[in-house]
Amino acid sequence: MPTFEEARKIILDSVVPLGAEKVETLEAIGRVLAEDVNAPWDMPLWDNTAMDGYAVRSEDCREPVVLRLAGFLPAGSAMTDAVQSGAAVKVLTGAPIPPGADAVVPFEEADEAEGYVAIRGKVKPGDHIRFKGEDVKTGETILPAGTVLRPSEISMLASFGKLFVPVHRRVRVAVLSTGDELLEPGEPLAPGKIINSNSLALAAAVRQTGAVPIMLGIARDNRESLREKLAEGLKADVLITSAGVSAGDRDYVRDVLDELQVEQVFWKVDIKPGRPTAFALHEGNPVFSLPGNPVSSLLTFEEFVRPALLKMMGHRRVLRPLISATLRDDIRKKPGRVNFIRVALEQENGEFFARSAGKQDTGFLKTLLMADGIAVVPAGQGDLKAGDRVDVQLIAGDGGLMEA
Ligand code: AMP
Ligand code: MG
Repeated sequence: MPTFEEARKIILDSVVPLGAEKVETLEAIGRVLAEDVNAPWDMPLWDNTAMDGYAVRSEDCREPVVLRLAGFLPAGSAMTDAVQSGAAVKVLTGAPIPPGADAVVPFEEADEAEGYVAIRGKVKPGDHIRFKGEDVKTGETILPAGTVLRPSEISMLASFGKLFVPVHRRVRVAVLSTGDELLEPGEPLAPGKIINSNSLALAAAVRQTGAVPIMLGIARDNRESLREKLAEGLKADVLITSAGVSAGDRDYVRDVLDELQVEQVFWKVDIKPGRPTAFALHEGNPVFSLPGNPVSSLLTFEEFVRPALLKMMGHRRVLRPLISATLRDDIRKKPGRVNFIRVALEQENGEFFARSAGKQDTGFLKTLLMADGIAVVPAGQGDLKAGDRVDVQLIAGDGGLMEA
């Protein structure tokens, strides 16, 4: 049975980034660039003014001087005539520097009246000019493959006139719940039946990674039903199943996957919760069989599936940030397996403190709602005491935003 770290490494080593597709630039937000993007031209394209003011020849302005106004250049216009000695051209931010001028004097440092402008201070060559190519040079690899596209990257792409961007394809993820006890949300409750919450929960988790969930509904605890649904699921890039992977009488998921020529890589991981998790490959595509318990299925998704989906979509950083926190509660733990403990975090004077988010039994979904971190407690560790340090993965829904 692999350890937590071994299982995650096996999974990440078995998946590769999917191919590229071209999408409209706005649709590329949050996605990962599949090819280098090189600058087709200099940025800025030409010397231009960083301020509203007067373009001058700095040699005319070694001391306070009065210059004749020889023109006006708002942003969007250009001028071909050179600025003569003794003259200045009024310029607005972004306008090209007219030929002959080599500095800009901001409005605040000059007084204009009746076609003349008095320059009060000294002017140095280059003052308030943004030079051609100062930001980006033609041919420079401005966005390397693997870049996650934020609005700032979109801005750069847009400024080079890019209408389409090559990004890694979104992963198509089939989601299948299994169990005779399951009703779909909206169906009337019935004795012995529970509502299939895992399909929506896992699909939501899939969507949060940027991947595309495909809902396969419910397979019943018999081989025929499983065969039909699993075969359907194997057509996707990734298949996730929930439940039916323990050692119970009706836990047929692995058997049927085997019949369908799916190659099992491991079954069971030395973790709590989530021990029955199985991982398999079908023609190179990953198949995750997650435990049915809603807490276990979401936690194992978080630990194993999410990093794999992110890697397949070209991300190079696929793990949640890990912080060190001081426990505020005692927490029971048996030595033996890595435990995932749902914790609520507080920050004081730049330090993190963690409280148990509620009852740690995997039956309690509410504890996961109260958690903004998962403490990963090493296998060998026994009971934890208040004051102990723990490593915590940050899973806050708001990405760790601060209150205003
Ligand atoms: P199993 O892995 O089949 O033994 O299921 C473990 C537990 O998870 C049982 O209590 C199931 O009723 C529950 N469970 C299984 N599938 C789902 C599901 N799709 N939604 C909610 N709970 C489920
Ligand atoms: Mg079951």
